[in-house]
Amino acid sequence: MESQPADPHSNEEQRDARHHLVQHHEVVIVGAGFAGLTAAQRLGRAGVDVVLIDQNPYHQFQPLLYQVATSQIAVSTVARPLRAIFRKLRGHVTVRTAKISTIDAPNRTVMTTDGLAYSGQILVIAAGAEPSFFDTPGAKEHAFPLYSVDDATALSSAMLGALDRAATTRDATPSDTAPSETAFSVAVVGGGPNGVETAGAIAENINYVVAKYYSPQFAVTACQVHLVDMLDTVLSPFTDKSQHYAADRLRAMGVRLRLGTAVTSVDSHGITLADDSTISANVVIWVAGLQANSLLDTSGLSTGRGGRIDVESDLSVAEAPGVYVLGDAANIVDAKGRHLPQLAAVAQQSGKWAAANIEADLQGQPRRAFEYLDKGVLAMVGRGQAVAELGTHRRRVLGPLAFVAWLVVHVGLLSGVAQRLSAVVSWCRDYFTHSRPQVVVHQPGAYARARSGSPTTTEPD
Ligand SMILES: Cc1cc2nc3c(=O)[nH]c(=O)nc-3n(C[C@H](O)[C@H](O)[C@H](O)COP(=O)(O)OP(=O)(O)OC[C@H]3O[C@@H](n4cnc5c(N)ncnc54)[C@H](O)[C@@H]3O)c2cc1C
Repeated sequence: MESQPADPHSNEEQRDARHHLVQHHEVVIVGAGFAGLTAAQRLGRAGVDVVLIDQNPYHQFQPLLYQVATSQIAVSTVARPLRAIFRKLRGHVTVRTAKISTIDAPNRTVMTTDGLAYSGQILVIAAGAEPSFFDTPGAKEHAFPLYSVDDATALSSAMLGALDRAATTRDATPSDTAPSETAFSVAVVGGGPNGVETAGAIAENINYVVAKYYSPQFAVTACQVHLVDMLDTVLSPFTDKSQHYAADRLRAMGVRLRLGTAVTSVDSHGITLADDSTISANVVIWVAGLQANSLLDTSGLSTGRGGRIDVESDLSVAEAPGVYVLGDAANIVDAKGRHLPQLAAVAQQSGKWAAANIEADLQGQPRRAFEYLDKGVLAMVGRGQAVAELGTHRRRVLGPLAFVAWLVVHVGLLSGVAQRLSAVVSWCRDYFTHSRPQVVVHQPGAYARARSGSPTTTEPD
């Protein structure tokens, strides 16, 4: 790694160079999610000098965050240290843990909050997205998002705190006094795959784990989970039959569906809906939508659909030579003119493809247009059941067979042998015993707030 002054031709860089020590690499990658990680791995193996910068020292596996939040798997299963991933490639890939504050796309330079700048021949922006609360009053303050490892541990701590409070209150209530309201209630806002999986997992916890660890009577009479969406259906990206199957399964597990009504506000007591009805909830989980990462606004690049950056068919940015944007940060349109969805498979494949084009750039070869291989969509709906629509033709599979497909795909997507083994062991143990040895309060502040009765505030610990 070489440290050298910034290019003196740029006023912007001259200004930044006064404040930042600039380090130069062939390729600078912003974000070690599915896209950035895959690109760095492929470039590192090809001997390209890469710096990979992420605010976290680990790669986080978002598809299983809901299982961390519901104590089904350990945090270490979804957070794999970047330095472990790149140990064998450390001669080529430099890992930096830093929060990037500004992207100077024309100069292919990024500035970090710790006063450093990284500049490259090529800049790859793979900074992902962030939760969107759609300006719903109270949502940001009182609802728990589920986007990061931090979110998942805060949520699990708050749910454990609320559950312990509910159990204590019930135990202190004289047996001849009927309690007037549900003691433990969770409202999940957003009926997409993430909301369906989360609500299903909480229902399973109530039915099996709370019943086992607290009491069956407490689980049945005092615990509830609600799933709310403004659309008339759950799983909107899936076909009607899959949607009906998922809704029926959720109801059978005890999830109370509230569809076709928007949430208008959230407060410390729960949520209010557009028809002025309310759902009281100790914990509100917000999985209703995502927006582009606000870091993109600093890049000077023009943004398109959803605030993301429009890319060319080869994943580069027309207005900024040497800049690629990948995964959830990009608007990627395939050869048939379809906008590709924000999925792990799109991010991973775009990372691999961009790396090949970057190698071509460095060797003076032509780039190739991105071809996405659509493997379909999946969602787990409680224990041993899932919906799968596989391949470009969306071949539908429902039930246990879809569950097997879900397991295979997620084990394949997980990064690391230890993480894969740990997930499989947890799933098997959970399936056969319903035990939760990985229940840990990771964020004592979130637990204590929920335990003391002010549960839906999301102040950081
Ligand atoms: C809860 C959840 C469940 C999901 N489930 C599925 C699923 O089942 N199947 C599926 O296909 N897809 C799923 N997705 C979508 C999938 O996870 C995303 O499409 C994918 O992660 C996008 O990859 P990415 O590399 O573009 O961004 P990300 O994976 O989000 O990575 C972005 C990286 O950039 C880093 N970063 C961001 N800002 C900064 C900054 N300022 N400074 C430094 N670093 C920064 C972040 O820390 C992160 O590591 C899910 C998403 C969520 C949130």
